[in-house]
Amino acid sequence: MAHILLIEDEADLQRILEFNLRQAGHEVSAALRGRQGIQLARERSPEFIILDLMLPDMAGTEVCKLLKRDAATEAIPILMLTAKGEEVDRILGFELGADDYLTKPFSVRELLLRIDAILRRARGEGALQLPIRFGKLCVEREAHRVFVGEKEVELTAIEFKLLVTLYERKNRVQSRTSLLDNVWGIDADITTRTVDTHVKRLREKMGQAGDYIETIRGVGYRFAELPKEDGS
Ligand code: CA
Repeated sequence: MAHILLIEDEADLQRILEFNLRQAGHEVSAALRGRQGIQLARERSPEFIILDLMLPDMAGTEVCKLLKRDAATEAIPILMLTAKGEEVDRILGFELGADDYLTKPFSVRELLLRIDAILRRARGEGALQLPIRFGKLCVEREAHRVFVGEKEVELTAIEFKLLVTLYERKNRVQSRTSLLDNVWGIDADITTRTVDTHVKRLREKMGQAGDYIETIRGVGYRFAELPKEDGS
């Protein structure tokens, strides 16, 4: 979810993009001209800019250059839209500080994926992808692999998400309802009982590391603050 500024003069494309960005949960400001785009970028501080290369009043590369020169807008990631055959401008786009580009025609899905990837990077969430090491437990988030000691543990996608969600709020109790929202999604048609079943199975699979997930009676679950080791 981000506030995205769309600078694109083709009205049809702008409408389609605006619709799809909103559908994906983003807030959208739109400009049909380069100058208007720069002005909106300064006034509204969007988190992301989609910038068309060919605009009626000035080149997208020029818009990019001006945005990257202005302290108020220099940190905003920019994805440039180019048409086929604009190879030179594309390279120039990167030299000017654009973060990514897409060649028209492109799929909206691809655009949304790129936006998410750039936003994650810009928000520094990349750092969260380091492996979790906690006592005997090691979770390789990028690879979706879990180890307890030397042994790999096979988890389902939901179990994996449950484990990571619990860990990320370490030492804080999480109610069954909040786990349902965060792991299964708020619209999931399941009961809080499902959470118990999954935690139970997850603990069993984790063996000796299963104790790291603590039950807080009548409230929910909590990932331990420190690993408990055997015999201590
Ligand atoms: Ca255009």
